[in-house]
Amino acid sequence: MTESSQESKPDMEEIVSLCKRRGFIFQSSEIYGGMAGAWDYGPLGVELKNNIKRAWWKSVVQGRDDMVGMDASILMHPQVWVASGHVATFADPMVDCRSCQARFRADEIEGDVCPNCGAKGQLTEPRMFNLLFKTFAGPVENEASTVYLRPETAQGMFVNFANVLAATRRKLPFGMAQIGKSFRNEVTPRHFIFRTREFEQMEIEYFVRPQEAERWHQYWMEERLSWYVNLGIRPENLRLFAHAKEDLAHYAAACSDVEYQFPMGWMELEGIANRTDFDLRQHSEASGVNLTFFDEEAGEHITPYIIEPSAGVDRPLLAFIVDAYRQEEVRGEKRVLLRLHPSLAPVKATVLPLSRNERLVPKAREVWALLRPHFMTQYDDAQSIGRRYRRQDEIGTPYCVTVDFDTLEDEAVTIRERDSMDQVRVPIGGLVAALREKLPPC
Ligand code: ATP
Repeated sequence: MTESSQESKPDMEEIVSLCKRRGFIFQSSEIYGGMAGAWDYGPLGVELKNNIKRAWWKSVVQGRDDMVGMDASILMHPQVWVASGHVATFADPMVDCRSCQARFRADEIEGDVCPNCGAKGQLTEPRMFNLLFKTFAGPVENEASTVYLRPETAQGMFVNFANVLAATRRKLPFGMAQIGKSFRNEVTPRHFIFRTREFEQMEIEYFVRPQEAERWHQYWMEERLSWYVNLGIRPENLRLFAHAKEDLAHYAAACSDVEYQFPMGWMELEGIANRTDFDLRQHSEASGVNLTFFDEEAGEHITPYIIEPSAGVDRPLLAFIVDAYRQEEVRGEKRVLLRLHPSLAPVKATVLPLSRNERLVPKAREVWALLRPHFMTQYDDAQSIGRRYRRQDEIGTPYCVTVDFDTLEDEAVTIRERDSMDQVRVPIGGLVAALREKLPPC
């Protein structure tokens, strides 16, 4: 059916425009001119985001025998961030332009020309800028009431190490997983939802015997890479990038990033670090609470090493959209298609009456009601059937269910598949089962 398919990368403007037009992602506070580094997820965006989080949770918690979930608070005792090293060292080197006062991350500058105003030789030497967001807890605004919005979810799991161990009686190796918001006062938020000041993370802290850390680090790199591939990202657009020792974060002994080839180049989706025993030792010392594990095999208390696969939600979401985006020519007409994996697609099936005929509409609404308890669905009866198929292709809906005049006679409907556009006829009584068979469990 497909006459040609454009495999080249879409540019970011096409993606941003599709996201806004179809209700995936809007600029935060748009009617006030927007808020830099913040974006809002619309009706389809929230579905896609939830599906990504669900797929991750299923893969790293529900489907495993060595992982448990957590949901720690965003506000934590300020000492957490002192002990973790973030208050002292969670900083990026920044460069200021003396001419236009703009500020940039030092690694984004090439040469001595200001990317904003073009002035030459006006850039300062790099200076450290702390990325922690500060606020106050309670009515008094002073040093003692200062708290931070967490810049990573990880610390909520480290400080609960003893609690989780006591409650679940786990043995090494085991892990905790958490999904939640994090905040960083990024100086140059950009590339749409790629670098923002408020974002979501999906983090795993996997506790292992120190001598096994390298093996588990390797294991998690492979595991996480295949997660993206299994959810439909083309392998040639993914790679692992190992950081040089001198570029590592203050807590890490090694780190490899899962990178995706975005329209703007290869960029990080997820960092997989060997955090050693740094965090548990720091918190043990600062809190005075013993955060060791009694290793029965070795007959001694040890401080486990931590392997941390730390993914964003927003960056992978952008990668899933970019990778799924296709422009095809079908019978002389352009169709834009999101080939999203069915378990990520925001809408699983849309019910379409052939027209707004007074006999077809009630029948189609009846079919829609039949599907709603089982799947995320839509109903659309506006404009021609061809335009409606295109609209569903553009948001990645895997199946359209069409109600036509024959339906009134034979109680059967047509299921049309998104990618091949193939159609099959099924009885309404067997529709839920037919879709269940085609779709992954949701
Ligand atoms: P970068 O070098 O791009 O700033 P990072 O190495 O500081 O990223 P990590 O601390 O490893 O990022 O955070 C883990 C994951 O959290 C990242 O891979 C990314 O998906 C997500 N993340 C981090 N910072 C941001 C941000 N400002 N906006 C959106 N997602 C982010």
